[in-house]
Amino acid sequence: MRIRKAKIVATLGPASHRIEQIEDLIQAGLDVVRVNMSHGTHQDHQQLIANVRQASVNLKREVGILADLQGPKIRVSKLSQPLKLKKNEKWIICFEGHTLSQTDLSHPVIPTTYENLVADARVGATVLFDDGVMGAKVIEKRDQFIVIEVTEGGVLKSNKGINLPDIDVSAPSLTEKDEQDLYFALRQNVDFIALSFIRCADDIIKVKSLLHQLKVDCPIIAKIEKPEAVKNIDEIISKTDAIMVARGDMGVEVGNHLVPTIQKQIIKKCNESGIPVITATQMLESMITNSRPTRAEASDVANAIWDGTDALMLSAETASGDHPFKAVSVMSEIIEEAEKIPQERPALRTVQISSVTSANQIAAAIIAEKINAKAILSLTDKGNSCRHLARYRPRTTVYGVTSDLRTVRRMNLYWGITSYFFESSTDNSIQRDGEIIEQLQLEEKLKHSDKVVITHGDGKYFQKGTSNSIRVEIIKNEHQDASHQGDLQQVEVSQGKIILDNDLCASCQSCVSVCPVDIWKITDDQKHETYIDSKQAERCVFDMQCVSACPTGAIEVIKK
Ligand code: PGA
Ligand code: MN
Repeated sequence: MRIRKAKIVATLGPASHRIEQIEDLIQAGLDVVRVNMSHGTHQDHQQLIANVRQASVNLKREVGILADLQGPKIRVSKLSQPLKLKKNEKWIICFEGHTLSQTDLSHPVIPTTYENLVADARVGATVLFDDGVMGAKVIEKRDQFIVIEVTEGGVLKSNKGINLPDIDVSAPSLTEKDEQDLYFALRQNVDFIALSFIRCADDIIKVKSLLHQLKVDCPIIAKIEKPEAVKNIDEIISKTDAIMVARGDMGVEVGNHLVPTIQKQIIKKCNESGIPVITATQMLESMITNSRPTRAEASDVANAIWDGTDALMLSAETASGDHPFKAVSVMSEIIEEAEKIPQERPALRTVQISSVTSANQIAAAIIAEKINAKAILSLTDKGNSCRHLARYRPRTTVYGVTSDLRTVRRMNLYWGITSYFFESSTDNSIQRDGEIIEQLQLEEKLKHSDKVVITHGDGKYFQKGTSNSIRVEIIKNEHQDASHQGDLQQVEVSQGKIILDNDLCASCQSCVSVCPVDIWKITDDQKHETYIDSKQAERCVFDMQCVSACPTGAIEVIKK
């Protein structure tokens, strides 16, 4: 049985695109695949997606697919050879589509893919290259180009990123390329769309309206990597389906020293609102070449878990690194270890319960813990109830049971939810629950005497998708009863014997309340288990009241 609660998103690429490689990564613990639309062709992506789906079929384990749109990322154009930038040197930056006259060419040229760079720039602004490894200041602005003076030099290669941290870039957040990539991704039935460099809630609303017109339902992940997005985080959270703390570009744009604080703040806000949050970039960066992470990286992964992130992401580590399998398995190991310290969760009195579904799910999580249930079976159409359940950080194993394959894949991003595909043969909810339990028993995920909490919506008084009922079941296998020894407590008294099967006891305390002579007691510890007080047992009057009050048949009283 799966024990890890937080999920792993891994970017696939040249180091991990073959079916066998993907199968390995799924086995190592990958939950969601990221397809980075910044690199490669639609043909490559199509093949990759087909391979992921095939690997899932081969292993009988579905994974989600996230298509990450590039957004208005500004890049250096393709260069015939790398450029050596030296401190204090002057360079021209010019859109690749413009040809400069000989008189303008007073300095060497860095061509860029972004048409409006010159229009947006102003003298004194900072220009950063290749994730901020090199930097420069704008010292002159002309019609067709800007002149920069290098402040930190280095070697600039083709297609490297350019960041303009103190300039409001005018490019739309959904570029023409993004729109083409979006249509492609939707045709490929991806499970999530991520939007890069969004600045405000409106950037999300625009894409949501487009999806609405197209009549497709696909969750949006807003990547927070611009200072404006950090500023507008509350309105963005209120409109998006999930958030990514995109620490790479964020670090370049706001300064690395601010990233840890922003990460904590954003995760906290997402936890409060109940939307999943992914922490991304450089989590195990050194594993691109090394087979082990650094101590700092191991700590970074664990701390993101303690911050409350729902998922962690790997980028180049799995896409182009030397050890994709190790990166996923090491990440999984660190998460499992970090999760041994129980997750903090919202105090019940302060938690915002905004719907019947969230109230019902939180109640289910509490019931499951109080009665020591083996699992929660949360029956769901679109995964909504499981998203609410995840928000309360349940300590019990949760199966998100659904007959919708898209929901199975989507819930792979949800903290602590194990997606479980099940098609029932009946509409009768009691029979259906029975079928699910039977299947889980066949797979040895549940056994005789386990308690389970089952939640579902009846679709009768509330709209479909509302989770409005909770049931508790104790699994009883008739055929096992004969041979089953179980966890029995037997007390012999002069007139007969009293037997309690603790495996079947629901700790409902009905026996305690009916017994006039205090034979039934409850342990003082957290478990609140029922037991027979052997000192009192002699006083039994054999009226069988406890036997009839016990709802689960855990008590037997035999008179000589
Ligand atoms: P990217 O996004 O890998 O698409 O740039 C993540 C980040 O910026 O951290
Ligand atoms: Mn980015």
